[in-house]
Amino acid sequence: MNLNTLQFDELCQLNASLAPYSTYEIGGKARHLGLPATTEELAVLLEGSKHKGLDVKWFGMGSNILFPDQPQDDTLFLSLKRHIELTFNEDRLFVSAGVPMTWLALIGVMTGIKGMEFTYLLPGTMGAGIYMNAKYFNYDISGLLDRVYYIDVTRPQQGVQHIGVDQCQYAYKQSIFQQNPWVIVGADLHVGEYELPQAESWTELMKEMQVSSAASSVLPDYFRYYQNWIGRLSAKGYVVPQEFHDVIADRGGKHHFDHACCGSVFKNNYDFGQPTGKLVDELGLRGTQRGYARISPYHGNFIQNVGGATAEDVLYLIRLVQDGVHTRFGFVPEPEVVIL
Ligand SMILES: Cc1cc2nc3c(=O)[nH]c(=O)nc-3n(C[C@H](O)[C@H](O)[C@H](O)COP(=O)(O)OP(=O)(O)OC[C@H]3O[C@@H](n4cnc5c(N)ncnc54)[C@H](O)[C@@H]3O)c2cc1C
Repeated sequence: MNLNTLQFDELCQLNASLAPYSTYEIGGKARHLGLPATTEELAVLLEGSKHKGLDVKWFGMGSNILFPDQPQDDTLFLSLKRHIELTFNEDRLFVSAGVPMTWLALIGVMTGIKGMEFTYLLPGTMGAGIYMNAKYFNYDISGLLDRVYYIDVTRPQQGVQHIGVDQCQYAYKQSIFQQNPWVIVGADLHVGEYELPQAESWTELMKEMQVSSAASSVLPDYFRYYQNWIGRLSAKGYVVPQEFHDVIADRGGKHHFDHACCGSVFKNNYDFGQPTGKLVDELGLRGTQRGYARISPYHGNFIQNVGGATAEDVLYLIRLVQDGVHTRFGFVPEPEVVIL
């Protein structure tokens, strides 16, 4: 056994339930689960999995993913949510893959960096936001990027490579990362002017970020934690932008965080001209339940786990919506949720 195999075994959890790693709270036991905290640990896990012939499925906070009820034994599930690093370098901010997108909004308030407010309460990690081009109304993650760093899973020995944002083929919920086996490890954001927080408070903040991002992906807890930050920022004398309150009203009003879910299940078909949620409403499918999975009574594009749903239940409802939309409106809506 070589050193890398030994390190691989140390970094892997065996027979770990995937449900706590997904905002759906769905997922059976993974034979192998890796939670690298650094790029070096990630490289060891990728090389080790190649050596052992394991298929690798990488993810972040699991807020846009449906894990299987019975994961394959020959798969390594790899979450980068513990990979936390934030470094300022002149007018650039390096953000590692595991940093929760919401933290950008908080850091923006503390440093005076503008344009990151839209990430407040946007669930998930930076790595996935870059992969998905996560968006909120007219703002998207690609608009913040300068350069993205990644490792090619098929050639981990090549180490970290980078690509400029103009080459990332960004469009609505699309990017070059969806066409390639690349694990994003971080990105440089262009941030303009800012004021660095005091070193001590910055160190404390980094520690808190590490603890909060390692926490399980339970949505009501996520909501409470980041909602509390409004009071914390105000108590420290920062001015909390109105956008934060607007986001709470918008997402709270749509009941985003009431139940386990993955956000919007389907992408919108802009050629058709109406959001998928509206089409589900017109089909009268809101509130339809299968097992413990339910199409949200508040939002036609959300499927919730109301307690003990399986991936099979969710898949049943996904197919129900796809069949209904196809029959009535003539196209099959494309899932936004990543089905493993
Ligand atoms: C209540 C709720 C509301 C939401 N609202 C919005 C919204 O307004 N706008 C929006 O865009 N999305 C929204 N989402 C979806 C989700 O926030 C985004 O898709 C987010 O980018 C997912 O982040 P994650 O870390 O949870 O990704 P995961 O679910 O863990 O993974 C999603 C995909 O990203 C890939 N991925 C993850 N990490 C990496 C990496 N480091 N390198 C390469 N690929 C990676 C995975 O392979 C997978 O294919 C919402 C979700 C929820 C639960």
